[in-house]
Amino acid sequence: MSLASLGHDTRPRLSQAPVPPNPTLPKLRIAAAGCRACDLWKRGTQTVFGEGSRHAPVMLVGEQPGNDEDLAGRPFVGPAGRLLDQALAAAGIDRSETYVTNVVKHFKWEPRGKRRIHNKPNWTEIGACLPWLHAEIQTTRPRVIVCLGATAAQALFGKSFRVTVERGKVLPSLLAPYVVATVHPSSILRAPDDETRHREMRLFIRDLMKAAEVLALSDERPSAP
Ligand code: SF4
Repeated sequence: MSLASLGHDTRPRLSQAPVPPNPTLPKLRIAAAGCRACDLWKRGTQTVFGEGSRHAPVMLVGEQPGNDEDLAGRPFVGPAGRLLDQALAAAGIDRSETYVTNVVKHFKWEPRGKRRIHNKPNWTEIGACLPWLHAEIQTTRPRVIVCLGATAAQALFGKSFRVTVERGKVLPSLLAPYVVATVHPSSILRAPDDETRHREMRLFIRDLMKAAEVLALSDERPSAP
C-alpha cells in the first residue's frame, strides 16, 4: 500500500523523512525523534509521535501536536484530547482500542506575548511528515481510520476534500477498510457560545458513532479461510 499509488493528485508530495526499513512502532518512534525533514523541528520541543497499541483497530489522525502535547511529548493530552476522550466514550469507542497520531509530528507555533499560538502547517510541511503517518498505518493496519479535521483529511484525500461536505461518511480508500472524516476536537473548543458547542459536540459524537458502527461490522465479518 503506498500513498503515491492511490492516485490522489492533490495530495502533498512525499519527502525524505528517515523512515527505517521493516519498521516497528518502537523503531519508528526512535527514528522520528531525529527527523529533520522540514524546519518544524527547530521550534518544537520534541517530535510527538503516535501512541497506542500496534493492534488497535481504530486510528485517529489529527493535524499536529498543540502546546500541551509538545511539552508532554504525547498526542492529544491537552484540552482537545480530553474532549476527544469524552466524545469517544459517548460514541462507544474505548480509547485503549485506538492509536492516536497526527499528520505533522512537530508543533508549529508563533509567539504572541508569552504564549505560543498554533500555526497551521503548510503543504510542504505536511508532505515532509506524511511518510511517518504512512509508516504508522502500514505498521498498525487499522480497520478504521478517523481523520480529525481538514488537515488530516486533505493529507489523505487531497486539497479539494471538504470535511463540511464529507463528514460522517464512510470514504473509499486503500489505506484502511473504512475511513471516516470529522472535525478536529479543537474546533469544538473554539465554538463561540455554549449552544454552538453542544451542537458541534453532538455532531462530532455522531461522526464517531459511524466509525464505531463500521468497526462493529468489521468485527462481524467472517475471517478468510
Ligand atoms: S514535522 Fe515531521 S517532517 Fe518536519 S521535522 Fe518534524 S517529524 Fe520531521
